[in-house]
Amino acid sequence: MKICVATKNEHKVHEIALVLPSVIELAIEDLDIDVEEDGETFIENSIIKALEYGKHLNEPVIADDSGLSIDALDGFPGVMSARYMEGHNYIEKMESILTLLKNSTDRSARFVCAATYFNPKSKFLLSVEGYVHGTIAYEIRGEQGFGYDPIFIPDGYDQTFGELGKDVKRFISHRSNAFKKLFDLLLKTGEIHE
Ligand code: IMP
Repeated sequence: MKICVATKNEHKVHEIALVLPSVIELAIEDLDIDVEEDGETFIENSIIKALEYGKHLNEPVIADDSGLSIDALDGFPGVMSARYMEGHNYIEKMESILTLLKNSTDRSARFVCAATYFNPKSKFLLSVEGYVHGTIAYEIRGEQGFGYDPIFIPDGYDQTFGELGKDVKRFISHRSNAFKKLFDLLLKTGEIHE
């Protein structure tokens, strides 16, 4: 079965592909549409993306919306993770986050990923959320991964995702977590079958 993935982010596609059941073939559609992600939650935004891509492609699609949620900053940057300090690179964005946290001993945070499947023919829609809990480092460390990976230390480890890289991320990341749940439920409901 072919499912289109509604993202242009290669890192995301790669992470989703790592947990993909063998019965699914992932198609990356380079759709030139701008989707306004104006939802207040990760789930809302992933549904907005899946509906929009599904409508244009008329094929089953999966979409995700994700971000970093920091407790001492009341969940910030949250759904604003990609748009925070737009036009600046991630080193600048991470430095700014570390400055916001410089007097904070509470470093707890989590990455959240909402994953949505939508089949425009049957109108079947399913959304789930996945998490990885951890803490914000005191400095930027590591060059692997993307986005805020170099300042996030997952619980149970001493290194950041930027240092640990994809071999660890594939088992414990918010994205692998969410997509494992999503594919599992799609198999259980019979929407996709072996
Ligand atoms: P989205 O494309 O709207 O889901 O934006 C997600 C944003 O959250 C990314 O651009 C990153 O800034 C951040 N983010 C989400 N997942 C990860 C991750 O696995 N590692 C690092 N940053 C992430």
